[in-house]
Amino acid sequence: MIKYRLICKSCKKSFDSWFSSSKQFEKLKKMKLLNCNYCNSLRVTKSLMAPNVLNNIKNDFHYKKSINDKKFNFFKREIKKYQKFIKKNLRYVGENFAYEARTIHYNSKKKSKGIYGKTTKEEIKELRDEGIETYTIPWVEDKDN
Ligand SMILES: [Zn+2]
Repeated sequence: MIKYRLICKSCKKSFDSWFSSSKQFEKLKKMKLLNCNYCNSLRVTKSLMAPNVLNNIKNDFHYKKSINDKKFNFFKREIKKYQKFIKKNLRYVGENFAYEARTIHYNSKKKSKGIYGKTTKEEIKELRDEGIETYTIPWVEDKDN
């Protein structure tokens, strides 16, 4: 069962009516079996949303949003753990990532800590074409440090 708020275009009054489905509503309307409770006019349309439906959608939205916030915070904590590990074990090269990665790759004698830094998707692709594997992880900008 579905409840629609119907509006009469002739007398401008609105009233609620129950239907078994939205299809049934369309069917009754086509067959001209839908008329106004007040003036019997056939110029009856359904309003887009009955107020109770609108409230449900609002509640649902808030519910989902709070779940996403929790997930996001969890994810952020996980990323920060990676970041801590990376900062401790790898050398930060900033924007020079692609250059430094090539230096390490082509100068195999050079002993080096792993590196991390920023680069573009295009550079990652070029590095991969040259046989240099890189890992991409999401990065949370930490304003505390
Ligand atoms: Zn009417």
